[in-house]
Amino acid sequence: MRDPRYDILFEPVPFGPLTLRNRFYQVPHCNGLGAGLPYSHAAMRGVKAEGGWAAVCTEILSIHPSSDSTPFPQVKLWDADDERSLRLLTDAVHEHGAYAGAELAHGGWAVANRYTREPLLSPTEIPSRRDPIQARAMDKADIAEYRRWHRRAALRAKAVGFDIVYIYAADDLELLQFFLSRRRNHRDDEYGGVLANRTRLLREVIEDTKDAIGDTCAVAVRITIDEMSGPDGICAGEEGRDIIASLAELPDAWDVKVSGWSNDSETSRFKQEGYQEPYACYIKQVTTKPVIGTGRFTSPDTMVSQVRRGILDVIGCARPSIADPFLPRKVEEGRLDDIRECIGCNICVSTYNLGAPINCTQNPTIGEEYKRGWHPERYRAAGSGDAVLIVGAGPAGLECAQALGRRGYQVHLAEAGRELGGRVLRESKLHGLGQWIRVRDWRVGQIEKMPNVSMYRESTMTADDVLAMEVPTVILATGATWRRDGFGRRNHKAIPAEPGAVMLSPDDVMDGGAIEGPVLVFDDDDYYMGGVLAETLRRRGLEVVLATPSPLVSAWTVNTLEQEKIQRQVLEAGIGVVANHNLVAVRAGSAELACVFTGRRHTVAARSVVLVTARRSNAGLYDALSDRVGQREMRTLLRIGDCFQPGTISTAVFGGRRVAEGLDMPMADIVGFRTEPVATERPLRPFVPELRTSDLRAAE
Ligand code: ADP
Ligand code: SF4
Repeated sequence: MRDPRYDILFEPVPFGPLTLRNRFYQVPHCNGLGAGLPYSHAAMRGVKAEGGWAAVCTEILSIHPSSDSTPFPQVKLWDADDERSLRLLTDAVHEHGAYAGAELAHGGWAVANRYTREPLLSPTEIPSRRDPIQARAMDKADIAEYRRWHRRAALRAKAVGFDIVYIYAADDLELLQFFLSRRRNHRDDEYGGVLANRTRLLREVIEDTKDAIGDTCAVAVRITIDEMSGPDGICAGEEGRDIIASLAELPDAWDVKVSGWSNDSETSRFKQEGYQEPYACYIKQVTTKPVIGTGRFTSPDTMVSQVRRGILDVIGCARPSIADPFLPRKVEEGRLDDIRECIGCNICVSTYNLGAPINCTQNPTIGEEYKRGWHPERYRAAGSGDAVLIVGAGPAGLECAQALGRRGYQVHLAEAGRELGGRVLRESKLHGLGQWIRVRDWRVGQIEKMPNVSMYRESTMTADDVLAMEVPTVILATGATWRRDGFGRRNHKAIPAEPGAVMLSPDDVMDGGAIEGPVLVFDDDDYYMGGVLAETLRRRGLEVVLATPSPLVSAWTVNTLEQEKIQRQVLEAGIGVVANHNLVAVRAGSAELACVFTGRRHTVAARSVVLVTARRSNAGLYDALSDRVGQREMRTLLRIGDCFQPGTISTAVFGGRRVAEGLDMPMADIVGFRTEPVATERPLRPFVPELRTSDLRAAE
């Protein structure tokens, strides 16, 4: 039963010609499925609708080939094929009683049009962000064309069955934001200069859209309220408020956020839940229309507080809805401890940035709903009555245990330590990573409710212990151990160490033993560990230098939108940074670095060297058991997570789920998942391209 203090979250909200069934709203978010995987996209959004969100929106839908985000996966609304693909999505969302929202978008000069090769468009002639080309300044004919494309896309969205149509002016990714912003708009005609001129195009597009589809569809504007770029840009409380005040009652809803993406999708390492409130707090003062906002909301108490204090009317969630598509249903049913809270790691963002379908650390089923038939809440019944022994309660073992428990297996989970969680337990104690413990907490919470899952703490299992249990299926989740010899991504042999050299691994630092400074942290891993350990050691008062063969600190975190923030924080903490240098030797009291370009060497003082390079899978138990498979005591032996393939926490969780889902299931085919059917079949035919007014004039 729902706790009455959350009743306010289930009040209906008038929303233009529609009424939202509650205040839970899945705002647009990218997912890397793109136009090429329409069935996966539809199934993923359909599960969200099933989870109780009042509205489920797409990500950016490009309205025209002059906005082509290749190589990033994109969804588009260019032609009848796109309409057919998106119809799958609106049907899937409507099946569960939610509204479907379409985020119409044009990337202006933020895209590169590498597939379509159309010229880039911008308010002002400006170099592209990505390629050595320039965007041209739109003339009046271009502006008229753009308005026509947008109107046509709105009509298409309505025809496809979308209930909410977005006008998008946010994320520093969108033509309309570029017109609004002084930083980007240097025009001297009626579309540039004073604010009334810079808002002109947005006003026109809102009017066009309302006119085209506003009778039955709600028209929402997603807009940047602070560009986080100082007084040159849009600032909260100044132009950010004034823009909305000047258009206050024109659209049916305002969806407000800060930009760019790294400021909007902050990780838990840098910002806590509700971090956009200082920027969004004045919007309701200037409009009576519903205000939607985000801030990695996972706590219903925080959501209630936002509504009661008049900050937001509608609780926008992207990552919280990825981590738990059933969040609203769980609040409604009074099952708060079942909510799988987002940990704010941005693995979901990283997969998009890498051009791949979405992954999530907390929810291994996201993006797998169609492909593998997984569901975040429903599990296949057990394929046999066999008991299962899982050794190791890190993220892989815990996920496997909870999923097998839900399938109905008798599960025994043995863990060497007193506390559960494995690497998550250790890493969440590092500076900034506290919320990562949610990976453990949710799984342990689920397991504790299952009478068919038994946990054995402080139970280090030997091969004899395993065999003595006589459990038919044994799954090893024994994790991995950081190397101490320097072998890693760039160095495929141990780094020479002289007598007296102190070489430590990240595990040594996490164990908390005494470490003598100055410390050299050598990061050949590129993800978070090098930067986090450098900060952790610096906070212990040690002198720290971070050296890496990469040009940037924690270079891979570009994909999680954290890199600039990490490097800034590292530098501001007084940590010395030596980029583009490999570690070539360690001595007592010093280390030798070599420039990756010139090979030129130099020595840094270091009484301790922490090597963040690679991990070895803990394979001992597997090696001791592998030739006993098939005997009476043990029929099947499997490995999951880091002891099978060291990787991220996300890959460990996924690995645990993969084996749990597949146990005793017949193999469907060689890849084990469904690929996407070809959406359309049509003959090659002569094609007459659409000409734009500006092209025609150029041809005259
Ligand atoms: P993963 O990321 O794959 O889940 P972790 O390193 O996080 O791996 O977790 C592995 C867990 O396995 C740790 O908690 C560790 O204590 C436990 N473990 C390792 N070897 C044994 C063993 N022989 N018996 C019981 N537990 C073990
Ligand atoms: Fe949250 Fe991380 Fe999942 Fe993204 S990947 S939704 S940030 S838990």
